[in-house]
Amino acid sequence: MSGGREVYRDQEVVRRMTRLVAEGATMLADTCPIDGLPLFKLKNGDIICPVHGKVWIVSSEAEAEEVEIDFIIRKVELHAAKRVYQSLNSDDASELIPWLNVIETVERIRSIREARSRDAVERQLEKTKREEGEK
Ligand SMILES: [Zn+2]
Repeated sequence: MSGGREVYRDQEVVRRMTRLVAEGATMLADTCPIDGLPLFKLKNGDIICPVHGKVWIVSSEAEAEEVEIDFIIRKVELHAAKRVYQSLNSDDASELIPWLNVIETVERIRSIREARSRDAVERQLEKTKREEGEK
C-alpha cells in the first residue's frame, strides 16, 4: 500500500519499530492491512502493528470491529476529499465548507484513535517487560 512508505518516513514509527526489535519482537513478512507496515510478533506471541498496535491476526470480535471502524473512517475521509475536489471544480461552492468540516472531524477522530492505539502499544510493551521480569 502506498501509505506505508509515508509512515516509514515518520521518525516516531521508526523509533517504535527499533524499540520493538530491541524488546525481542520479531518482524514478520505479514503487513498491516491499513498502513502496509510490517507486523511484529512479541515475545508473548501477540502480533501488532507499530502504528495501530493491533493484533491483526484478529483474535476477537472487538478486534475485527476496530479494523472495520478504521476502514470506514478512511472511506469517509476519501469520500469527503472527493466532494471537496468536485466543489472546487464547480460553480457551486456551497458544499465546500460542509465537506471540509467532515474532513476536519475525521482528522480529529483519527488522532484520538491513534493516540489510543499508541497507548495500547506502550501498555503491551510494559506488560511484556513485566512478564519477562517475572521469569
Ligand atoms: Zn497499521
